[in-house]
Amino acid sequence: GTAYIDGAFVPMSEAKISVLDWGFLHSDATYDVVHVWKGRFFRLDSHIERFLRSADRLRLTLPVSPGELARILAECVARSGFQDAYVEMVLTRGASPTFSRDLRDARHQLICFAIPFGWILRPEQREAGLSIVLSDIRRIPPDSVDPTVKNYHWLDFVMGLYDAYDRGAQSAVLTDAGGNLAEGPGFNIFTVRQGRIATPDRGVLRGVTRQTAIALAAELGFPLEERLVAAAEALAADEVFVTSTAGGIMPVTRINAAAVGAGRMGPVTRALLEAYWARHDDPAWS
Ligand code: PLP
Repeated sequence: GTAYIDGAFVPMSEAKISVLDWGFLHSDATYDVVHVWKGRFFRLDSHIERFLRSADRLRLTLPVSPGELARILAECVARSGFQDAYVEMVLTRGASPTFSRDLRDARHQLICFAIPFGWILRPEQREAGLSIVLSDIRRIPPDSVDPTVKNYHWLDFVMGLYDAYDRGAQSAVLTDAGGNLAEGPGFNIFTVRQGRIATPDRGVLRGVTRQTAIALAAELGFPLEERLVAAAEALAADEVFVTSTAGGIMPVTRINAAAVGAGRMGPVTRALLEAYWARHDDPAWS
């Protein structure tokens, strides 16, 4: 892949940051991820918009204009030569040139890169669906770090992933103190029961794919509620699916080792998944 760092394009292996960067030392950074499919960005404006909002909330200043950012991302993709790419933009607090501890002296650092779109599920994996656990590990309480700011505070997710691995599953969904669903490492969750879709609305990132799924559900006429969703609802659901830029819409067919519904991709998930990929051929969504 190709990276953009310190104002220049370099091969991924040459993209390096200082160990004094506050992004590295204190997770003092924000980021966003967008994907390119068959040579075209999908919902780039929404990702740039969220990135700018996150930066603003964290008092990070983008050193280039939004238009220039879009051009840099496109150039990372073009230089990498990938038709399908995972494209990340990162803004860190950086470090102070004088090693001062005053954050206001730090030089904010923009890093962008394009790597192969490797997380996407192959068709047979997609049919089989994901196996996840509902973890007792708590997602960061919404009042400590605003969850709608895309952040690298992932230690709860990392512990959740090990919880999943220990239990023979692929990933985990964390819960809140009241036993409600939150989200997983890099994805939002949806449940379907008797044709009605529900997704958590508190303490979760406003995923761009989550928003796409909500829009597609409305177009396809599926009733959908954004509300508190009890973990027990996922266990009793006919279908469960997760959404992310990295994986699109993905069925969950096992939770805590038990089958979800019939144990295979259900009709609502399939309809949304097909509509999602069909949108990738529509220039209005690029
Ligand atoms: N939730 C969290 C915590 C995430 O980090 C991500 C993406 O990385 C998502 C949800 C999914 O968001 P999106 O659909 O915008 O990729």
